[in-house]
Amino acid sequence: MSINVNEIGAAGNSALNQTLRASGSDTSPAIVIPERRLLLADDVLASMQATVSSIMTVEEFRKLQEVIPFNEYLKRVSANPNIVRTSAQRALDMVIGGGRTKTLLDGEEIFIYNLFSNPPNPDDAISGNEKAIHDFAVEIGRAAKDDRRLILLYGPVGSSKTTLVRNLFSGLERYSKTDDGQMFSLAWDLSGLENDPAFKSCGKGLVECQIHEDPMHIIPIDKRRETFGKLNEFRKQEAGGALLPYSLYTKGGLCRCCDDIYRKLLIHHNGNTSEVLSRVKAKRFTLDSDRRQGLTFYGAKDEKGCKPADLVGDINWRRLLETGSESDPQTIEQRGQVLQANRGGCHLGEVLKLPKKCLTDYWMELKIEQWNFSEFKFHLMLY
Ligand SMILES: [Zn+2]
Repeated sequence: MSINVNEIGAAGNSALNQTLRASGSDTSPAIVIPERRLLLADDVLASMQATVSSIMTVEEFRKLQEVIPFNEYLKRVSANPNIVRTSAQRALDMVIGGGRTKTLLDGEEIFIYNLFSNPPNPDDAISGNEKAIHDFAVEIGRAAKDDRRLILLYGPVGSSKTTLVRNLFSGLERYSKTDDGQMFSLAWDLSGLENDPAFKSCGKGLVECQIHEDPMHIIPIDKRRETFGKLNEFRKQEAGGALLPYSLYTKGGLCRCCDDIYRKLLIHHNGNTSEVLSRVKAKRFTLDSDRRQGLTFYGAKDEKGCKPADLVGDINWRRLLETGSESDPQTIEQRGQVLQANRGGCHLGEVLKLPKKCLTDYWMELKIEQWNFSEFKFHLMLY
């Protein structure tokens, strides 16, 4: 049955009364809606409209789409060093910032964290397992301090391991959209270079780093460490001597594609780094697990279904036609689940079931010493 909307009066909702009629038959009886139901319907509609209009304001939308010059980014970081935190540092601040309550469990003081016991989605509330969740937060704190990327979770089926990670990821996703949790991705302004054959395979216009690397990575690592030392001094002074849970740190260089663009720009601008830097932009980056943007998942696959490319990326065949070489940095598409988790986290389910051919490439890419996983069911990796 369909509703003949032509008969709904211009007076709005109240005109719905006694005017709805099943179409397809002019002789069908009018649907009478009692006045009390109409008032309730108005109420529900007002509530839904309020919800819809609170999804995002224009100002919030613009903030999340922001693209700023590199110099402006440096100014922002100097005023708010938290912008360059690692994923584990963000996670720690977000988990603690969500609120926690100290309690005694078997004579030991532990914290109950709202993010896990009372998350926005009530279906994901975890009851019990308080000690394990407390230890999980402690591990995030350790990862925030010393770049431990892996957190291993094990336990029987139904012990809320997946729910724990889901709460953490949705918390990180929300946090990345706030001013406190803001972060930026490196992007290159390649406008005006469309006809330069050197840039043919690099993309056009504003080209974002495929793995959303921090724009600070444009600064060579030794100089960057100096800068981070100053940022940490600033944080200490601002904390007024209070003990900070972690220091900011930096490592690594540009990804292979960005490094290639940087070198090509240096040649194009005849070594003038100011001109190269004028093409460096910082683009607001938000985490999104549905789009696998900074938050990814890789489940167990059998020998046939597991492709290392799913984790660490593969050749982009269209680009191969342009570059003509598999070894050209622009030929590799850095779209694997591990690489796309950069700045956020990767949740690997049932890691033991991953065939060795997958794990080999995975460990090589991460340069992490291979651990004995014989007792672990799955793990989480935070960048
Ligand atoms: Zn990059």
